[in-house]
Amino acid sequence: MANHQDIQEESLFSADELAAATSDAGARIEALRREIEHHTYLYYALDAPVISDAAFDSLMRELRELEVAHPEFRDPSSPTQRVGGYVGEQFAPVVHEQRMYSLDNAMDLDELDAWLERTKEALGREVPLVCELKIDGSSIALTYENGVLVRAATRGDGTTGEDVTVNVRTVRDVPLRLRTEGLSGLENPAAAIELRGEVYMPKASFEALNAAAEENGRAPFANPRNAAAGSLRQKDPKVTQGRDLSTFVYAVADERALKASGQWELLEWLRQAGFHVNPDVRRCETAAEVHAFCEEALRRRETLPYEIDGVVVKVDAFALQAEMGFTARAPRWAIAFKFPPEEKTTLLRDITVQVGRTGVLTPVAELDPVVVAGSTVARATLHNLDEVHRKDVRVGDTVIVRKAGDVIPEVLGPVASLRPADAQPWRMPTTCPSCGAPVVREEGEAAFRCISIDCPAQALERLLHWASRGAMDIEGMGEEIVARLVESGRLTDVADYYSLTEYELSTLETGREKKDGTPVHLGPTIAAKLIAAIEASKARPFARALFGLGIRHVGKTTAEQIVAKFPTVEALAEASVEDLTEIDGVGGIVAASVHSFFQTPANQEVVHRLKYLGVAMAEEAPSEEVPQTLAGLTFVLTGSLVESGMTRDEAGARLKARGAKVSGSVSKKTSFVICGEAAGGKYDKAVSLGVPVLTEQDFLRILETGEAPGADEAAGAATTE
Ligand code: AMP
Repeated sequence: MANHQDIQEESLFSADELAAATSDAGARIEALRREIEHHTYLYYALDAPVISDAAFDSLMRELRELEVAHPEFRDPSSPTQRVGGYVGEQFAPVVHEQRMYSLDNAMDLDELDAWLERTKEALGREVPLVCELKIDGSSIALTYENGVLVRAATRGDGTTGEDVTVNVRTVRDVPLRLRTEGLSGLENPAAAIELRGEVYMPKASFEALNAAAEENGRAPFANPRNAAAGSLRQKDPKVTQGRDLSTFVYAVADERALKASGQWELLEWLRQAGFHVNPDVRRCETAAEVHAFCEEALRRRETLPYEIDGVVVKVDAFALQAEMGFTARAPRWAIAFKFPPEEKTTLLRDITVQVGRTGVLTPVAELDPVVVAGSTVARATLHNLDEVHRKDVRVGDTVIVRKAGDVIPEVLGPVASLRPADAQPWRMPTTCPSCGAPVVREEGEAAFRCISIDCPAQALERLLHWASRGAMDIEGMGEEIVARLVESGRLTDVADYYSLTEYELSTLETGREKKDGTPVHLGPTIAAKLIAAIEASKARPFARALFGLGIRHVGKTTAEQIVAKFPTVEALAEASVEDLTEIDGVGGIVAASVHSFFQTPANQEVVHRLKYLGVAMAEEAPSEEVPQTLAGLTFVLTGSLVESGMTRDEAGARLKARGAKVSGSVSKKTSFVICGEAAGGKYDKAVSLGVPVLTEQDFLRILETGEAPGADEAAGAATTE
């Protein structure tokens, strides 16, 4: 307890008060909680601790001991209770009382100026704006009742998020209780108030987490944003607690809960209430000041300890914000100025070749690892030989790398002056790196291919494609497991999935070893889940299976079009090239590819086995039997269909079954746009073109009755939004 000496110098309580409190365990416990909260606030929110970590730990230890001895004073908002509870199978959905909006983007300074100009016009003058850094994390909504944190929810689709309270409680800079000391401005202190901000993972913690993942053979996170989001969704809060997350809080769901007049005052209030508020904010009066802030943020981006992807500019006054209002997806009174994609230089160590599912050979740049836009890049696709030559990149070059859309790494080109004298133009290998068969390039094609039927690299890709989300969606059947099954000789073609046994999977070696050197097996739990997922995949619509077969040129939409005409695999296998070309959207090349697939004996055998093993190789009800009441109508789907829980693909299939067309984009020819939750630009476009807008309820009614609404009803639906 020696450390208590230096604590008391900066304490909320005098030495006498602390001593007096000791005589009464309840009072002592409360005093310790307040003391610890105070130091947590100084440490995390103000970044100005006044006591040592050891002293802090000592306070915590005493509190913990007292709470154990006096369970009658248990309180879930005690600082000792950050880790508790356990998330069930799923995170409970939380419907946000106020929508969590996204932000409109300005991709460069010109677009930012256009927004500034629009704002000035809308409000009739230049108004004060607040500039903040755009933190690249995961949004969070924190609800306090009676000053106590009761709920934390993710944004989800903006309307419905997930309850991640138990995990957010472990984030140390999130106050479990609001600081009420000297806090004014709360309209009704007992009422619920919802604050919003961003949970993020500092760059250093992200790098450490990924280094550890690599060491343990786990997949690394793509960037700190994903790491933060993934950490929030852990089933075990202890894992989240070990993840070093932080927050910046910057908004209130409903500003009527407070006396603040605008964003600037709100930030100050949040600071006083104990939240971690980003210090790099500025209130600007002119466009020039906003520009200066953006430029400075861009300059400092590298050196900040956390990732930012832009600057958010907000109209300061709440009254003016209300005047400007919202679009369907974002406030009009704010804009996100997005930074241009970050570019880095690094060494191109090698160009390797990957063999895809259809045998295409893809050159891949092997780079000296370099951090770009928040994550380490060590490889990037170079697409094909022509691309390698067009960019003129050679092994040994120093190359410029960036991330397209801040996600996919891309090699832009070499730094010519740094090219080694002996660097040679790259050449495609003449044999397949996977199976050694000769490589061919078909007339007029950019791609080189391995056409060997026994090529193991192709087999792996084909098997993964079958199990993938868009195809048969066999959950959990990932690359690692499939590769093991291929290596062990248990999986050769897609029909083999359906004869796997639980025992085989359970005893499959994962390639990892226990400490004593014995191999780690997949185990019965995962095996049972995989078997259930395989079983479930048997009932997928025939079009998904057709797509899953990986026939060249047959994508998802083409597969659906084919099935609409040939609802059984037998009918399809007998179709001639001419029959096939009669299908809408199927040209000569596609028809020839489908035809030759079904003429190949090895493929016939796989299809036969799939059917024999119980995979649905026919559409349940041939589409001709359903009355084609929607023929001639074109629908566009947008947003998520939360009520029915259907994916847009499923919803589209139901409309198509009645003869409708489903398109991905809105035009004058569109008959109806069906808007689910969080509908975006397509809704705006429909309104501007005067295309009738339907709600999900309208859509469900169409499915029920088979009839589309009349023009009058639909126009009514469009104006009720
Ligand atoms: P986007 O997801 O690109 O549409 O950007 C919108 C998101 O930016 C919001 O939902 C917030 O989660 C996030 N964001 C990060 N920093 C801020 C900030 N200072 N103010 C408002 N939103 C922010």
